[in-house]
Amino acid sequence: MPQNWVTGFPRIGEQRELKRALESYWAKKSGVKELLEVASSLRKRHWEYQKKANISYISSNDFSLYDNMLDMSITLGAIPKRFRDIEDPLSRYFAMARGSKNITAMSMTKWLNTNYHYIVPELSKEDKYKLNISKIKEEYFEAKECGIKSKINLIGPVTYLAFSRAIDFENVFDAFDKIMPIYEELIREIANFDEEITVQFDEPLFAKDVTSKELSLLKIAYDRLSNISNNIKIAVVTYFEHSNEATNILVNTNIWALGVDFVYGEENIKSLEAIKKSGKTLIAGLIDGRNVWISDIEKKVNFLKNISQIVSKEKIIISTSCSLLHVPYTLKYENKLDDEIKNWISFGLEKLDELDLVTNLFFKNENDLNAKDKELLAKNKRALHFRKSSKRIHNNEVKNRIKNIISIERELPYKERIEIQKKILNLPVLPTTTIGSFPQTSELRKVRRDFKNNLISSDEYTKEIKKYIDDCVAFQEECDLDVLVHGEPERNDMVEYFGEMLDGFAFSKNGWVQSYGSRCVKPPLLFGDVSRPKPMSVDWITYAASKTKKPMKGMLTGPVTMLNWSFVRDDQGRDESAKQIAIAIGDEINDLQKAGIKIIQVDEAAFKEGYPLRKAKRIIYEKWAVESFKISTSVAEAKTQIHTHMCYSDFNDIIETIEALDADVITIETSRSGNRLLQVFKKVGYKKEIGPGVYDIHSPRIPTVKEIKEQISKLLEVLPKEQLWINPDCGLKTRKWEEVKPSLKNMVEAVKSFR
Ligand code: GLN
Ligand code: ZN
Repeated sequence: MPQNWVTGFPRIGEQRELKRALESYWAKKSGVKELLEVASSLRKRHWEYQKKANISYISSNDFSLYDNMLDMSITLGAIPKRFRDIEDPLSRYFAMARGSKNITAMSMTKWLNTNYHYIVPELSKEDKYKLNISKIKEEYFEAKECGIKSKINLIGPVTYLAFSRAIDFENVFDAFDKIMPIYEELIREIANFDEEITVQFDEPLFAKDVTSKELSLLKIAYDRLSNISNNIKIAVVTYFEHSNEATNILVNTNIWALGVDFVYGEENIKSLEAIKKSGKTLIAGLIDGRNVWISDIEKKVNFLKNISQIVSKEKIIISTSCSLLHVPYTLKYENKLDDEIKNWISFGLEKLDELDLVTNLFFKNENDLNAKDKELLAKNKRALHFRKSSKRIHNNEVKNRIKNIISIERELPYKERIEIQKKILNLPVLPTTTIGSFPQTSELRKVRRDFKNNLISSDEYTKEIKKYIDDCVAFQEECDLDVLVHGEPERNDMVEYFGEMLDGFAFSKNGWVQSYGSRCVKPPLLFGDVSRPKPMSVDWITYAASKTKKPMKGMLTGPVTMLNWSFVRDDQGRDESAKQIAIAIGDEINDLQKAGIKIIQVDEAAFKEGYPLRKAKRIIYEKWAVESFKISTSVAEAKTQIHTHMCYSDFNDIIETIEALDADVITIETSRSGNRLLQVFKKVGYKKEIGPGVYDIHSPRIPTVKEIKEQISKLLEVLPKEQLWINPDCGLKTRKWEEVKPSLKNMVEAVKSFR
């Protein structure tokens, strides 16, 4: 009888086999056959793993060659017009995802508050939708051949629509009546596959604050879908937050089960009574699907015992909190990770074992437990015990520093300090600068790699990096930029670089998580109290400063971004961890200013990413995020100018928070959206300085002087010149020198005509 459920499984492969196969196929180094073989063997392997871990509900259609939202578009026949002439289905699929010679790709955006990006469906009023069931059918029967009666994973219709874009009509939900018949046909077809089939509909939209319109569509959709066939068991799952509003609707439909997230949406317990009354099955998301720490097994079992006081045991299925897509595949290749830390971590495969263990402990009688289960439980308890007291994690000095923070305000208010800074810096109007990084060439990457692998000495490494800095500074001088940077040649990644130098962070070797398509990220593991054993950037920055008379900008990654791009420990609040990082960054700021650096940029590229899904929780996040930034930057003396950079332009709903950061200068991305999004700064009477990017660095195109001038004119319509800085809209590391040089020269030339 034991029942458990895996919402979805990582598909990139335990050694990123899918990435390799895709990239080789795209580069025409291998053919369709090879690609599809890899895909099939990956699916079989991940089914095998789940079977071995005794998972009762294993998915099919959770695999994807690129993205499962895109797969859903294919299933529904939602193919934007510009791709319809491509006959070969696979070529068309990848053209939609990545563009082809003369057709632009569909756009991509973040899947709720994760770092996974999906392909945004584009709907047109001209569309004629048509079912394409082939992928779903193939995978179902492929699983069956492996001896698995899979549940079929689908994106639910309301979430599908809400996350789509209507290109030529007002409201995406106007397409509801056209899309629903395809979903119904799909269910009718699936009903023919087998005697009894489970279908999982993902509706994570309902983890957000929802509208009554969305709720009413939810009711209509699942009334219709759940009454099609008796042999279909429909489960609707949500994740990342509570979904109590949706649950209250869904209990009044004919669906079989509700999947809710108890890890990130504890409030879901409020719906237990309603679920019980409805007689529906509860899929209880308990094993954290988006963070990497081991579960407290005993606590999970006790939680289950508690909820089974309401919903009866037979109606409970134990599940991951969301798809395991958001965690790395397995710990098994981590031969470099410290053993102690490894004991505290569980990736995808290890989470399957946790799920199995919790299932056994909850469903079986104590006497029926086998020796292995008892041993695993004891091991889990031991690991948790050591984690509570380990010196690797706990550093009282750091904890005390946080307790003893007295003020997080700069020594003078903005108005007074900007006057002092202006006198010292003596910059022209419309000062020019860049966001920090300059092109990362393959030679540069090799230097860093060779140094890491001990193939070159530290002296050789330093020499090479200094050479890059020399060239980079010389170019900026030649170009006549006003505030220079060192170019970030020593950094592979803005978070990893600092994380590697801070105590409290660890790095996996193979902890890759899919970000989009074949792209993966390997987030740092923030496992302990954070402290800075020694300065991290001062040598490079002061070296660069010695090469010019112009101001050299120090370059740091902010605490909120460090946090948001890492796997963050779960044994203390995120706020606490952010503040610890903030203190370390603050120490670095202090060392930089003591070394004579007059401008320091604290990048908060991922500030917005940490926003909670529910509005009610935003205030809390904003409070500690702002506090953390200010813990770092309040160390700066009045004369030290603090810049920050954010990689987006939509500040409408967070403008007050941006103001509260109290940075002297903020550079943002507006080049792609014109000056429309800048209006909000004017509207609220934003007084500090702003550098709205004047050209888009995401494209290889070189902007002309004329274009940049037009862009500057537009900016001047919104904000006075005293408040403006002129810069590209993000770091230049992904560009080539051939693109960067003329672009920046054009930018400086354009600015000069305004002075
Ligand atoms: N200083 C960083 C850079 O220029 C900022 C990167 C970012 O905003 N993502 O690369
Ligand atoms: Zn940026």
